[in-house]
Amino acid sequence: MKILVINAGSSSLKYQLIDMETESVMAKGLCERIGIDGHLKHSPLVGGKPVFDEDLAMPTHAEAIAAVIDKLTSAEYGVVASMKEIDAVGHRVVHGGEKFASSVRIDDAVMEALKECTPFAPLHNPANIIGINACRDVMGNVPMVAVFDTAFHQTMPGKAYMYAVPYEYYKNDGIRRYGFHGTSHRYVSGRCAELMGKPIEELKIVSCHMGNGSSIAAIDCGKCVDTSMGFTPLVGLPMGTRCGDLDAGVIQFIMNKYGISIDEMLNILNKKSGVLGVSGVSSDFRDLDNAAAEGNERAQLALDMFHYWVAKVAGSYVAAMNGVDAIVFTAGVGENSKSSRKAIAEYFGYLGVTIDDEANSKRGEDIMISTPDSKVKVFVIPTNEELVIARDTRDIVG
Ligand code: AMP
Repeated sequence: MKILVINAGSSSLKYQLIDMETESVMAKGLCERIGIDGHLKHSPLVGGKPVFDEDLAMPTHAEAIAAVIDKLTSAEYGVVASMKEIDAVGHRVVHGGEKFASSVRIDDAVMEALKECTPFAPLHNPANIIGINACRDVMGNVPMVAVFDTAFHQTMPGKAYMYAVPYEYYKNDGIRRYGFHGTSHRYVSGRCAELMGKPIEELKIVSCHMGNGSSIAAIDCGKCVDTSMGFTPLVGLPMGTRCGDLDAGVIQFIMNKYGISIDEMLNILNKKSGVLGVSGVSSDFRDLDNAAAEGNERAQLALDMFHYWVAKVAGSYVAAMNGVDAIVFTAGVGENSKSSRKAIAEYFGYLGVTIDDEANSKRGEDIMISTPDSKVKVFVIPTNEELVIARDTRDIVG
């Protein structure tokens, strides 16, 4: 079975074609500048075919999908003979609200429900919907599945997902913690259980997804019981450019003092805050590491804040689960920055965590970086959201 995985943004569209016999990627690519001019980078990974990396007119997502199908099936760049070989399509959808606690086969009723979730993710869900519609137009009756970033967190109990505001806002408007990165937390926690050789139903795992956006999840017996992102992905940890947790009074103070609108304020909190805002250097942790090594104190402060917050939130989840068996690091920073992993792990001495420096220096593979006698195991597990989407699609489509 071959499954096309699609992640559609407002002007971009990422894809992978995955062969489910081997769970290997046959081709992957990225359409950019959709609706502006258009560019496609298509990389076949089997058959020794060349990479296609050129401008292509893409007035809408439909032309982008058509270009992807064309390249996947072309004699020069293709990896399959025709579209008939693509058995199903899995779509990443950011927000499923309370309607979707698991992945679902897409039909007209699901499309309606997705539209109803749009107010919760006004920037992301419309792009996901456009991508699905374009795919349905171009690919006809090929079965399609929606996989949600929020679904994994739907097992959180009310005490974790409720905000302490008047209950009517939850009841009437759905105001609550939803959480994001669910597909990633699900993948790495499942892989962690495999690496430990134990059923996930017997494990308490703290999963730290640390990338440009970052979130932590408490996963007790395979179920998410708490997570750090909230109604939106703005809160929890300080991130590349997002502020993380913030006293709402600060928002009112800054808006009043500088006469700025709520839209401008949210732009500052989403795009100009986090480690970029504190350091004034960059949102990229490699730049921060370099600047800090050269003595830049604000870069060091931003790194220190990030490490402190990861440790603080992770520690609160150890309390929430009344214990922890494993801590997992994943995503750009988690998979690549040995200095950040080390700095965070140093806060876990009270749990009996000890790090093996040699293992912590390795990159690009699933690896246990704690010493064999460490009471709590620590892993680096490269995330693979596309594979989760493909597996769900296969399971649902059959
Ligand atoms: P992601 O959102 O998961 O793609 O993560 C992207 C982020 O990972 C970048 O913005 C960097 O901050 C971080 N990153 C990638 N490589 C490294 C590295 N070698 N050291 C530290 N941070 C890294």
